Amino acid sequence: MAAEQTLAIIKPNAVKKNVIGKIIAMAEDIGLHMTAARMKTLSSDEAEGFYAEHRERPFFGSLSKFMTSGPVLLIVFEGDNAIEKWRKLMGATDPAKAAPGTIRKLYADSIEANSTHGSENKEAARREVGFFFLEEF
Ligand code: AMP
Repeated sequence: MAAEQTLAIIKPNAVKKNVIGKIIAMAEDIGLHMTAARMKTLSSDEAEGFYAEHRERPFFGSLSKFMTSGPVLLIVFEGDNAIEKWRKLMGATDPAKAAPGTIRKLYADSIEANSTHGSENKEAARREVGFFFLEEF
């Protein structure tokens, strides 16, 4: 069986902090392999489409604006249990609740500018990898 895939995003605030390498090294250290990556400044349509499930949430407009505020690094990580491994490494969505040593504890600025994204489950991973890397997979 092919190794599990997850979509990861290094968000604009973390790109601005110049910690892309540090974040990727953390992922490599837990056995994740980067099998696709692209630096991109998202359009409003892309950010809103990607977060469409949150359309009714009060933070949707602000989140979409934040996600288009600078370049992001879109990544596909592969490995055994990649979805859960990457989510655990990121830590809780709210950095105030993130465990010590997690990416969000180290690099998030707020619950919105929380440095990284990771797919929630297999179905989301398939949708999200397809959303940004349709040609590659
Ligand atoms: P998720 O689909 O769980 O990754 O949530 C999407 C993103 O929305 C999170 O990673 C945060 O950047 C943002 N977010 C989630 N909850 C809030 C909130 N209460 N206020 C502002 N942004 C939020």
